[in-house]
Amino acid sequence: MNIEETSPHQHEAVFCQSCGMPMPEAELLGSEQDGTKNEDYCIYCYEAGEFKQPDITLQGMTDLCTGFMVEEGMDEAAAHKLLAESLPSLKRWKTAAAVE
Ligand SMILES: [Zn+2]
Repeated sequence: MNIEETSPHQHEAVFCQSCGMPMPEAELLGSEQDGTKNEDYCIYCYEAGEFKQPDITLQGMTDLCTGFMVEEGMDEAAAHKLLAESLPSLKRWKTAAAVE
């Protein structure tokens, strides 16, 4: 029987907990004020200890990311559906949804 969970340097695919972007490389990770990496958020969402768009809503983020994905060549309706299903379960939005 293999015990693979214990290999120390194996990285699971990490996704930004704000926009859902995959962050396969450390340089895509957001940063804290002291320069350390934040493994929850990407560099586009979180830099130097704060969100780059602190007032953005879940709806706003969904629209913003839809735009990026369409630029990447994805169908708009498909992109919007994917984001509308995945973003609410991310850490940044889970609590916001619970408060409403
Ligand atoms: Zn992000």
